[in-house]
Amino acid sequence: MRFVLHRNDSGYDAERTGFHLLSSHRPDLIVPAATPEEVRQAVARAAAESLPVAVQATGHGVPLPASGGLLITTGRMNAVTVDPATATARIEAGVRWDQVIAEAARHGLAPLSGSSPVVGAVSYTLGGGLGLLARRYGYAADQVRAVDVVTADAEHRHVTPGSDPDLFWALVGGRGNFGVATALEIGLVPVDRLYGGALYFGTDLVETALHTWRGWTGSLPDEMTSSIAVIPFPDIEQVPAPFRGRTVAHVRIAYTGDVAEGEELVRPLRAIGPRLVDTVGELPYTASAAIHNDPTEPAGYFATHSLLRELPPESLDALLGVRGVIEVRHLGGALAKPQGAPNSVGHRDAAYFAAVLSPGLAPGTDPRALRPVHEAVREALSPWATGGRVLNFLYGENAGPDEVRRAYEPADYERLTALKSRWDPANLFRLNHNIPPA
Ligand SMILES: Cc1cc2nc3c(=O)[nH]c(=O)nc-3n(C[C@H](O)[C@H](O)[C@H](O)COP(=O)(O)OP(=O)(O)OC[C@H]3O[C@@H](n4cnc5c(N)ncnc54)[C@H](O)[C@@H]3O)c2cc1C
Repeated sequence: MRFVLHRNDSGYDAERTGFHLLSSHRPDLIVPAATPEEVRQAVARAAAESLPVAVQATGHGVPLPASGGLLITTGRMNAVTVDPATATARIEAGVRWDQVIAEAARHGLAPLSGSSPVVGAVSYTLGGGLGLLARRYGYAADQVRAVDVVTADAEHRHVTPGSDPDLFWALVGGRGNFGVATALEIGLVPVDRLYGGALYFGTDLVETALHTWRGWTGSLPDEMTSSIAVIPFPDIEQVPAPFRGRTVAHVRIAYTGDVAEGEELVRPLRAIGPRLVDTVGELPYTASAAIHNDPTEPAGYFATHSLLRELPPESLDALLGVRGVIEVRHLGGALAKPQGAPNSVGHRDAAYFAAVLSPGLAPGTDPRALRPVHEAVREALSPWATGGRVLNFLYGENAGPDEVRRAYEPADYERLTALKSRWDPANLFRLNHNIPPA
């Protein structure tokens, strides 16, 4: 290891602070790893000294923050190579989606990236990965071909569905519980352009937009992936003028079929009424971040979600009037029909994902104070909820063991705990979305 950082070292705070400003690890020791060998040495040291291990790439998905232990940061491991002949990419542990998108686009290909281009590609993929093209191509996890990983015995392994089917199944979906991934090999899809973008409707059309979008999702081809958010924008200068001080409905569109067909499909949404802004049109995949327009600056946030079996009109009452941002994503399609090697991603039968997000929380805010508001929404949605969770969207206070368990099918969770007993019996990798040994 070239260097390690202790609590009083300069650089310690900068290294441990990631995107999520209300949830930062405070480890005893940080290993800023630049190579797989440094990851291996860090795991060996943690095992020898019985220090639990946390891992961080960008800090977008920090679980319950660690106090103590050893944090491995992976931001320096950021190489991406694309093989156009096999339509695959090799991505190192610290790679962000914008890097993969740019490299893949040079060959007319795209990864199954999500709403934000600055999220870490490896953790997103190992946690499932619900992306812009989800209904057409499934979870990002479904495209994993190989995982390079340092397991708790400090061995660096190249794991494929053929080399070790059980460990591969557990790693892909079980995220950081079975080792520190140093790189992934992932499949890319033949998409270079979309019919996509965003439709923004003003306050007076929010309710109509939500109801119309809901009905519209009932009969769509798998080529159409969409979601809707209702966002109460603050009345501040940083917010673009059309949205400032208004509650806005934001419909996100990603259609991989023909442009003319896409236009026809989106017609009922445009018929809702005048848009504050309408960017839906032919779009290179390299510009796909404009579909969700997620914030890229570090922030404090608290979020809760439910997976839903159905979204009848009355379920929308639970969402309208919420203080905070709400988001509903349309699932189904290829998400429910996995191709490729089996993985442990759960709840493929859910039809919708509904989230409440409290963004822009000032440093020092106790996110637990927001729990009653969020729980009330979840309670109101309970008649249609599956009870399941999406691992990637469990953050901070909401990433405890009970919520993590809900991210998996019950039998799969049992299998994961049994495999954890085999691969990490001391639960060295526990400062994460933890699956304890059986
Ligand atoms: C603005 C925003 C938009 C998002 N959009 C989407 C979306 O569209 N779809 C979706 O599915 N998710 C989305 N997410 C969730 C995101 O995929 C997860 O939070 C993901 O874990 C982020 O990975 P990261 O590396 O950026 O974050 P980090 O906080 O660095 O990592 C999260 C956790 O992953 C584990 N981990 C990280 N690297 C490794 C590694 N190399 N080996 C083993 N374990 C590791 C660690 O336990 C770590 O605590 C979004 C999150 C945000 C904040």
